[in-house]
Amino acid sequence: MQTLTGIAASNGIAIAKAYLLEAPELHFTKKAIENAEDEIKRLDQAIETSKSELEKIKEHAKQKLGDEHAEIFSAHLLVLSDPELIQPMHDKISSEKVNAEVALDETANMFITMFENMDNEYMRERAADIRDVTKRVMAHLLGVSFPNPALINEEVIVIAQDLTPSDTAQLNKQFVKGFTTDIGGRTSHSAIMARSLEIPAVVGTKNVTATVSDGDLIIIDGLDGKVIINPSNEERAAYEKRQAEYEEQKAEWAKLKDEATVSADGTHVELVANIGTPEDIEGVIRNGGEGVGLYRTEFLYMGKSSLPTEDEQFDAYKTVLENMGDKPVVVRTLDIGGDKELEYLDLPKEMNPFLGFRAIRFCLENDDVFRTQLRALLRASVYGNLKIMFPMVATIQEFRDAKALLLEEKENLRKKGVEVSDDIEIGIMVEIPSTAVIARQFAKEVDFFSIGTNDLIQYTMAADRMNEKVSYLYQPYHPAILNLVNNVIEAAHAEGKWAGMCGEMAGDPIAIPILLGLGLDEFSMSATSILPARSQIRKLSQAKIAEYKDELLSKGTAEEVVELVNKITE
Ligand code: PEP
Ligand code: MG
Repeated sequence: MQTLTGIAASNGIAIAKAYLLEAPELHFTKKAIENAEDEIKRLDQAIETSKSELEKIKEHAKQKLGDEHAEIFSAHLLVLSDPELIQPMHDKISSEKVNAEVALDETANMFITMFENMDNEYMRERAADIRDVTKRVMAHLLGVSFPNPALINEEVIVIAQDLTPSDTAQLNKQFVKGFTTDIGGRTSHSAIMARSLEIPAVVGTKNVTATVSDGDLIIIDGLDGKVIINPSNEERAAYEKRQAEYEEQKAEWAKLKDEATVSADGTHVELVANIGTPEDIEGVIRNGGEGVGLYRTEFLYMGKSSLPTEDEQFDAYKTVLENMGDKPVVVRTLDIGGDKELEYLDLPKEMNPFLGFRAIRFCLENDDVFRTQLRALLRASVYGNLKIMFPMVATIQEFRDAKALLLEEKENLRKKGVEVSDDIEIGIMVEIPSTAVIARQFAKEVDFFSIGTNDLIQYTMAADRMNEKVSYLYQPYHPAILNLVNNVIEAAHAEGKWAGMCGEMAGDPIAIPILLGLGLDEFSMSATSILPARSQIRKLSQAKIAEYKDELLSKGTAEEVVELVNKITE
């Protein structure tokens, strides 16, 4: 038995066999072959096997995740059926008498380089598709297994160095009981997706892939951030007991599903959910969410080979709004960049992607992409209670520019006779310290704030949220963070606006009393945190915590803050 410690990224306990999700080594050597016909057959066989795998994955993705996620596999299948790509491989084997691996590699590389250098975006996207499918075919030629997370069909714990958001989107929670990674933190997107899939996860273990072998028995303790490898019988029994207790606790919380969120002394706050896809709404409703506080629309843009169309987006927004009825739905416009890459946009690699060309910065420069999203949102606005917010706003000018585009698109739609709601609130995420500092000036122009602490903390503490080496600096209770948060809440209230929080801090049981005391109006968190948070808030006195506000804000360290909070709430 061995225990690894990481960061508890998604609550719960899971026990199952390990499934290592590793990118395979694809080394090969150049060989002269004698029988070209046999070699061509070997290549065709590898292509056929890859195709039938892709068909299955596509079907699976379609059923479990919707047409949107399945589309990328259609593009991959097209590549493998393209004679313009396959014939030159056959020719190379026949004329140069080289092995299939070389023919595949050299031909694919030639096309990749050619497509990558084209001006046409559609063609550049094809380069990424060819690169992806070539790896799969190569793995089959070399007889090494190629991981297909979408095809997992027995109960497993996925073990990976890291999971990209699109990897995570392929996981089927019927079979994937939990996952653990070498890298990542509580606010990396794989962790966020784990919470929306409601599967236990531990990230940032540093060396789980090097320690675990396929088939090992694994316990994921997503409550304490532990990974237990090949537990003893006693250990396993102890965890099964904890698992059952956790399930019981969940059943208790479930009783609060339709209750309002009111503190013991009568302060009402809103508990809403963070979602990534329309499919997440079911979990929001099941967990008693009073609305959606953050819809991360970038997932609509991921796991595809091209930008989503206006109609595709409209359908997604309409579904979410209709399903939430009159409850508020805060949609965040495209926040791409940082750890959320879109391969098909082919943006240049940056030295500091988290400080780079991302989110509203990207949208203001690529206003065709932005306008498409805004039109889709405006058209959907009549189907529910829509609020729109812009991510990563650093200056008031950015907000004004984004708002101007929104109003322009609204006007254009109206002129065409398209119905658009008249009362869409327009707000911003506060996740850059400059914005938190001059929240008073912003509050005069925005309808609301939503504090994005995942980024606000990384920028305030100068600590990359993806780097587990500096994850100790992710300190939500650091007085610097609390003072910024307080500044934003006071600024909003001074102008009669509301302030919410959609970073992970909003669902953190230690932060909740502080935020309640500071007067936060709306708490947006992963759906599974809503009921525990409601249960906690119902036992707290807002006024009592507020009495300690100045003392909390003047502490010197996070530890001192926590000590005081514990004293106030004990
Ligand atoms: C945040 O930064 O706190 C946030 C909610 O946005 P994201 O995690 O998507 O960057
Ligand atoms: Mg953010």
